[in-house]
Amino acid sequence: MARTLITGAQNTWCPGCGNFTLQHTLKNVLADRETEGKSLDDVVLVTGIGCHAKMADYLNINSVYTLHGRTIPVATGIKLANPDLTVICCAGDGDAYAEGLDHLIFAAKRNIDITLIVHNNQVYGLTTGQYTPTSPLGFKGKSTPSGTTEYPFNPVELMLASGATYIARGYTKKMPLLQTLIHDGIAHKGFAFIDVLQICATFFNMTDYYQSRVYELTGHDATDFEAACKKAREWDYNRDAPIALGRIYQRMLPTFDSHYPTRSITKEEREERITRLLKGSV
Ligand code: SF4
Repeated sequence: MARTLITGAQNTWCPGCGNFTLQHTLKNVLADRETEGKSLDDVVLVTGIGCHAKMADYLNINSVYTLHGRTIPVATGIKLANPDLTVICCAGDGDAYAEGLDHLIFAAKRNIDITLIVHNNQVYGLTTGQYTPTSPLGFKGKSTPSGTTEYPFNPVELMLASGATYIARGYTKKMPLLQTLIHDGIAHKGFAFIDVLQICATFFNMTDYYQSRVYELTGHDATDFEAACKKAREWDYNRDAPIALGRIYQRMLPTFDSHYPTRSITKEEREERITRLLKGSV
């Protein structure tokens, strides 16, 4: 019998928050996976700290609720310890692009076979509205009442420069496309990066801004690096530019985990390791 994927934990996200779309999109992707006969016991979700991170409480799969900015190293460790697992990270824009930035670059450089979904709402929502690395110039929040004096950086361009092998941009109000991008990211063998434009209904509601600018890529050759760079730069310093959604770049390269022994351990070996760990004899 298919499992119930939404847990009974009390949901504390604000009404209208984009996290709901991501929760239900992930739920649909996982349900499809189960329908295809793949066990959800082999899936691990790793979250950081922030509103997004409650996903670990709200989705009924194996999960690790880790430290701020540390989703990627934890996910990397899980994948290396057991390469048979499918490891999905959810991180916020503060998580992935500030505290965890070095981990992000190295995950792309190494091509570790994990999927990273960045809930990019351009604000620290959990701490009530400070600016993040993707907040636009002039953003007025709790820590910048007169407006930021920094330009936001471009995560898609950064991932192209860092060597990521699957790069996509989604939007929480385009759920079918988002579902395809997440499904394909998980299916991709290598580091899959999905930047998701998400609404923070309470501290930075960008709905009108996004609705008038986003478009879905058609006829784009995702294997063409130069074309991908062009798409990545289309929406950059010019905040009035159109915003491309879809798979921006993809290529195949050996994964980081493929360079290490890939035999997964048996149940007996795992129990024996745990026993040794508990005895402190490792
Ligand atoms: Fe969502 Fe923003 Fe509320 Fe956090 S503060 S739950 S990101 S709407």
